[in-house]
Amino acid sequence: MNNTPIRLLIHGASGRMGQALLRLAAEDSSLQVVAAVVRKPPAQRVVDGIPHFAASELAGAPPFDVAIDFSLPEGFDPILALCLERGVGFVSGTTGISEAQQAALSAASQRIALVWATNFSLGVAVLAGLVERAAAALSGWDCDIVESHHVHKKDAPSGTAITLGEAAEQGGAAPRFASLRAGDIIGEHFVQFTGLGERVELVHRATNRDIFARGALHVARQLKAQAPGQYRVRDLVGKPD
Ligand code: NAD
Repeated sequence: MNNTPIRLLIHGASGRMGQALLRLAAEDSSLQVVAAVVRKPPAQRVVDGIPHFAASELAGAPPFDVAIDFSLPEGFDPILALCLERGVGFVSGTTGISEAQQAALSAASQRIALVWATNFSLGVAVLAGLVERAAAALSGWDCDIVESHHVHKKDAPSGTAITLGEAAEQGGAAPRFASLRAGDIIGEHFVQFTGLGERVELVHRATNRDIFARGALHVARQLKAQAPGQYRVRDLVGKPD
């Protein structure tokens, strides 16, 4: 068994997700964070033994095996370009990326192993499958997806709602979306199928951001051994680390 830790670069390290990734990776001896990247030049260059870099200094990052990106769409292109240049894995949870950025991901997957997902939780991977099945079985029913998040979330509908909508479409439904921004809600996705005189409701509630960080770290561990290609979270969950 190979005990060499997987070297990670965390992009968006000062954010809510970045902080959770740094904390959980520090508890795991199979992972070693070798670089933390934040938007502006960092106040401290080394924090808890981890070198910190500004986004403008990306080219100077030390060698790494996989980058994990939870930043904003404007930070997405440079970190994908760096992974391509270095020929290493790319895991991104950044939501609200453009169609051009989606196309760049698809092109990059010819050369590196990567996962871009709107939600890294196991529960949402399962929910997407349930939504597709319900949509296929409930032909002609209305399908509505209501998502709720904290007031700081910029994109709407959420990337997860869009992913669930795609699952509903695959099952033959035509989903409609509604978004709520309130307080400190981490993330709720409610999918309702309405027929005449009855309703089916499917819901996922995230109560702790760690579920996304844990899922992204699990995917990063799995990705290092994968051939180039674009993988889904559901391709890589359920496999032991
Ligand atoms: P946040 O605002 O707390 O943090 C954003 C981070 O990105 C900060 O560290 C900031 O310095 C960095 N950043 C901003 N612009 C940058 C740039 N141009 N270059 C490099 N870094 C830059 O946000 P958050 O709540 O941590 O969420 C980050 C992203 O992850 C969002 O897109 C959010 O929607 C998404 N998210 C995805 C999942 C998932 O499971 N896929 C879960 C939660 C959040």
